[in-house]
Amino acid sequence: MPEQIVKQRSRGFICVNAHPAGCAKNVEDQIAVIAANRPAAAAGAKNVLVVGGSTGYGLASRIAAAWGCGAKTLGIFFEKEPFGKRTATAGHYNSAAFHRAAERDGLWAASLNGDAFSDAIKERAAAVIRAEMGAVDLVVYSLAAPKRTNPRSGETFASALKPIGEPYSGKTVDPITAEVTEATVEPASAEEIAQTVRVMGGEDWQWWIEKLAGEGLLADGARTVAYSYIGPEHTWPIYRDGTVGAAKKHLKKTADALDERLRRTIGGAAYVSVNKAVVTQASAAIPMIPLYVSLLFRVMKRKGVHEGPIEQMKRLFFERLAPGTAPAVDSEGAIRLDDWEMREDVQQEIAELWPSVTSENLGELADFAGFMRDFNRLFGFEVEGVDYEQPVESEIVGRWITDSG
Ligand code: NAD
Repeated sequence: MPEQIVKQRSRGFICVNAHPAGCAKNVEDQIAVIAANRPAAAAGAKNVLVVGGSTGYGLASRIAAAWGCGAKTLGIFFEKEPFGKRTATAGHYNSAAFHRAAERDGLWAASLNGDAFSDAIKERAAAVIRAEMGAVDLVVYSLAAPKRTNPRSGETFASALKPIGEPYSGKTVDPITAEVTEATVEPASAEEIAQTVRVMGGEDWQWWIEKLAGEGLLADGARTVAYSYIGPEHTWPIYRDGTVGAAKKHLKKTADALDERLRRTIGGAAYVSVNKAVVTQASAAIPMIPLYVSLLFRVMKRKGVHEGPIEQMKRLFFERLAPGTAPAVDSEGAIRLDDWEMREDVQQEIAELWPSVTSENLGELADFAGFMRDFNRLFGFEVEGVDYEQPVESEIVGRWITDSG
């Protein structure tokens, strides 16, 4: 395929193409953060499975495991490949860049592109682990999916981003006009709550761990971690106390059950890590969250404690999951990487800014420009050092094991 100039095509919080060179630069930038901060005695996990490893927190986890610990990584994700002039999704280009960099730096890596919820891909992953890794000592579960088909019953569930019980009215920002308006989201039905729990709760994570444990593919002492979010009180109606929050409560219950089982059987552990709010494809879709994150960015940048996914994963892999140590956890047993976001001084400032933010003062009170820049960067656009006037090869074929799942 001849090279083409790729210009961003997006509308609001939906971007329908991606820039291969921008995505590759994003991956290299994240590798550089990890390489520059690797502790002298970098060790930790050596064989890592990352479910949802092509974008956001999962990609950052994979980079931290590979370049921080020298781990072999197997990534699972669901991405679209390029087709003619149509570009691939960002996660495809990210993964292609990950594989190129891993090969360059002598790191073993394999990926499966397919539906993580299916039995077929779990089977395929088990075969790769058995043949190439022996067993895994860390399983990162970082899926964010709009729907899930249960392979055992054939039912398809859809996740909803809604409050529970009552409608929620709150401030929101329009990504196109940058207007701050009041929006109302109607509450979820009992069916929508139940379906969201089936998609974003812990059932599939549990099935992954059961599959690996059942086949003897979890190393002694193996750990598993899934990601969650809590956030401050003014986001609770839409998040923590809403449909996704209900799913995250199920995820935590699953972690507790898996933890008990892994400790008893292999001396392992299961954790939920509560991460900070960052800009990802999943988080931009949640009503009100972009405005909150824009305020958070302004405050955290000013205080010098701003972090993106890779800085969060640097702390997770180098501090919390450091070898031979049990991570510090809160009273509920969760790892808290949102500790800086939830600092009293940070949240106090946001709580003061929240009622006064309007379309007129958005640029001054909040870092909405930073939010949008990060959003565009997710797709490889607005990345420093990339010349967007230059034609690029967009038909980059993945050098990984593919599976239509
Ligand atoms: P993301 O959209 O960047 O990544 C989702 C990943 O899941 C991608 O790799 C995608 O390919 C993969 N995926 C989706 N459906 C799949 C399927 N059917 N089969 C295989 N792979 C599939 O999302 P993210 O924001 O990084 O979210 C990851 C986790 O982190 C979620 O549990 C989320 O709740 C949690 N989290 C996110 C934030 C945030 O602010 N973004 C904060 C705290 C916790």
